[in-house]
Amino acid sequence: MRSLFAKRVDDIPKSFIREILKVIDDPEIISFAGGLPNPEFFPVEGIKEAASKVLTEDGTNVLQYSTTEGYLPLREYIADRYFKRQGLKISPEEILITNGSQQGLDLIGKTFLNEGDGVIIEEPGYLGAIQSFSFYRPKFHSIPLLDDGIDIESLKDTLAENDCKLFYGVPNFQNPSGISYSDKKRREVAQLLEESNTVFVEDDPYGELRFIGEDIPSIKNYLKDNTILLGSFSKIVAPAFRLGWIVMSKEKMEKVIVAKQAADLHSNYFAQRVIYQYLLDNDIDQHINKIKEAYGRQREAMVNSIKEYFPPEVSCTEPEGGMFLWITLPKELSSLDVFEMAIKEQVAFVPGSPFYVNQGGKNTLRLNYSNVAEDKIEKGIKSLAKVIKRAL
Ligand code: PMP
Repeated sequence: MRSLFAKRVDDIPKSFIREILKVIDDPEIISFAGGLPNPEFFPVEGIKEAASKVLTEDGTNVLQYSTTEGYLPLREYIADRYFKRQGLKISPEEILITNGSQQGLDLIGKTFLNEGDGVIIEEPGYLGAIQSFSFYRPKFHSIPLLDDGIDIESLKDTLAENDCKLFYGVPNFQNPSGISYSDKKRREVAQLLEESNTVFVEDDPYGELRFIGEDIPSIKNYLKDNTILLGSFSKIVAPAFRLGWIVMSKEKMEKVIVAKQAADLHSNYFAQRVIYQYLLDNDIDQHINKIKEAYGRQREAMVNSIKEYFPPEVSCTEPEGGMFLWITLPKELSSLDVFEMAIKEQVAFVPGSPFYVNQGGKNTLRLNYSNVAEDKIEKGIKSLAKVIKRAL
C-alpha cells in the first residue's frame, strides 16, 4: 500500500511543549512550562510609532515584495552590533534575515543534511532544533552537557569515531538547561571542530540576556569560517515579528539563499522595516537592560525558593542569563509522573525527556522563570516542592 505521507515525517517528534501548553490553559495554574519572554517588556508604543512612521513615509514600498537576503539597513545594523558588542567583523552580505531563527534551523537542515549525515547535539538539546533537523533524517550523536558546557572528552570520542557534518549548540544560557560554555570550552570546541572539519551551528537567541558576570566571546570568534551563527529579535524585541538571522560565509549563503527563496521568497518585509525603524528611534540597550534586570530578579527568586523548599537530593542549574533553569530529580523519580501530580496542585513545568534524542533524562525537568511574576514564583516552587517530596 502506498502511504500518503512522506517517509521523512514518520518519526518527527511532536512539540511536547505545545502539547503541554494545551493542557495548562487554566489561568489558575502557575506555569513554569512555557518558553515565553515577559510580555511586560514588549515595546508596544515604540512599535506603534515605528509602524506608523514607515507607513506614512514609505507606505507603498513597505508593503511591496522585497529581496530574499532581507532589508540591507537591517543587516548592516546587525553587523554593526556584532562589531560593537563583540568586535566580530561580519559583513552584511554574510547575513540572511529569516522568519525567526527557527526558520534558520530548517534552512540549515535543508541545505546541508543528507539522510544519515552525522549531527552532534547537546544532551539535553533544544527541541526545536531536534525537530527541524529530524525532517532531513540525520544520525544524531548526543553529547552530555556539564556545568561549563559540552563534555569535551565525549566530543573527542564522538568525532574520532564518526563523520560529523554539523554540531548544533547553544553556548549561551542554553534552552533547556540554562548552561553556558566557559571560554576555555569554546576554544576547545573550536579547535576540535577545526581539526575534524565539522561546522558549528551556534544558536544564540539569549546571548544578550546576561544578568550575571561578563559576556563570553562567541565560538564564531574562534572558528571563523566553519561557524554558522544564528540570532533573533524574539527575546530582545518581540517574538511575533518572527525575525531572526543567519550569519554564514558567502559560499554557504549562496546555497541557503536558494532554500530560503523556495521556502517563502523573503521574510516579512513590513516587519523588517518596522523593527529597523524601532531600533533607529529607540535605545535598545536601555530596553535590554530592563529585561535583564527583571529576568535576573525572577531567576533569583526561583533559585532561592528552590534552595529553601526543594529536598536536598534535587539539584538545579544556576544560569547567568536567559530564561530557563534545569532540575535533576533523584534517579528513581519520573518527571512525567511528577508532572501529573503537579498539575493537580496547579503548577506546571516541562518534563525533560523530550530534550533527549535517545530517551534519557526521565528524572529531569525544565523551569521557565521569565514569564512568571516574581511573587508567583515562590508560591509555585513551594507547591512543586510539596509534590516532589510526596513523590519521594
Ligand atoms: N533557538 C533556541 C535555542 C530557542 O530557544 C528558540 C526559541 N524557543 C529558537 C531558536 C527560535 O526562536 P525564534 O524563531 O523565535 O527566533
